[in-house]
Amino acid sequence: MQAPLTIIGTGMAGIGLARQVRTLDSSRPITLISADSADDYSKPLLSTGFAKRLPPHKLAARSALELADQLSVVVRSSTRVDSIDCAAHELVLGPERLPYGNLVIATGAVPVPPFSLSEQLAGRVFSINDLDDYRIFHAALESLGRPARIAIIGLGLVGCEFANDLHAGGHSVSLIGPERALLPRLLPEPLGLALGQAFLRAGMHLHYGRLVTAIHPAGEDVDLTLDDGEGIGADLVLIATGLRPRVELAEAAGIDAGPDGIRVNRYLATSVENIHALGDVASVDGINAMYVQPLQASVKALAATLTGNPTQVRYGPWPVLVKTPLLPVVSLPPIHEQVTWRIEADGEDMTALAEDESGQLQGFALTGRCVRRKVELARSAPPLLG
Ligand code: FAD
Repeated sequence: MQAPLTIIGTGMAGIGLARQVRTLDSSRPITLISADSADDYSKPLLSTGFAKRLPPHKLAARSALELADQLSVVVRSSTRVDSIDCAAHELVLGPERLPYGNLVIATGAVPVPPFSLSEQLAGRVFSINDLDDYRIFHAALESLGRPARIAIIGLGLVGCEFANDLHAGGHSVSLIGPERALLPRLLPEPLGLALGQAFLRAGMHLHYGRLVTAIHPAGEDVDLTLDDGEGIGADLVLIATGLRPRVELAEAAGIDAGPDGIRVNRYLATSVENIHALGDVASVDGINAMYVQPLQASVKALAATLTGNPTQVRYGPWPVLVKTPLLPVVSLPPIHEQVTWRIEADGEDMTALAEDESGQLQGFALTGRCVRRKVELARSAPPLLG
């Protein structure tokens, strides 16, 4: 009989792995442990829920109980793993010690706020990185009982998607960040500015090139001060200034990890025997993609490995589809920085090709009607992890 499998984390990585292992092995004991509610949900849908006015329960495909029942697994929700004792092969959960056979760490990534926030701002300043966060923000919006003024800090994928979604849900949105255009890590500047034009036309307020230097409660309002002295009043603030892999558990246990994540090889094996990692917390052969397709490829490879068929993961040239219906965006950022961007534009319909010295396609970015070209271009681009 195979050793019992214990998975820390019930995001798409943890639950995806349990599901895949179960299809390959119907009897192996599997335990999933999660600090959150352990509901089974798709994280990318969080930034589409406000336009459709979806209450949180509509975003959960199944509860932790239903999940346990469906997969014949043990699910321990609202249970934080405090530490991993690699020598004893045990997890420490408060006063309890839980033995493991094979351990998989799928603890995801955590939002990084730009500065520490005073307790007086609790209930007014948020980040949304899981379904529990969505529940809390949704409740704050509902309690206003009217369209809200929302300031979003951060011009990346999460900030832009929530900006578009909350705007579509009838709220007034201000978007603030230090870069000169939207989606700075995914788009060359002209395309980021085109997305900005679409947001401006829709009535959003954009503050490019600006840092938020202070946030204060002011009566019922929250006041944000920008580095040029401008003040912005809001009902609620959403922080979307990036995510960092949650590596603390691994680091404290002596597992090789760094700011890029827990370091694993292509078998998703960490530096410690019988411990694997995948999803947003894992840096696979030096790459931490933090997107769904690499995560799903990792799930398949690791499930095969854990059921007796050692399999290396590979990532294809998978573009990211940004959910900004005001101007659709697709991006496959080049892995190497030594590229020249060649941009063709017809209004806001833009194609940007990142080429190396020999003219070989290394990545691309598309907006508007040009997003149709994603499949054709991806065929010519190099794999993320070949
Ligand atoms: P998580 O979902 O973060 O799960 C981590 C789990 O670990 C949680 O269950 C947590 O409770 C648990 N945990 C952490 N620490 C402990 C502990 N000490 N003890 C017990 N449990 C613990 N990607 C795309 O490809 N396309 C998209 O369109 C897209 N849209 C997105 C939209 C938003 C708003 C966000 C935030 C992300 C989006 N992404 C998208 C990224 C994608 O959703 C993530 O890459 C993916 O969901 C990460 O899953 P995960 O399981 O690795 O981590």
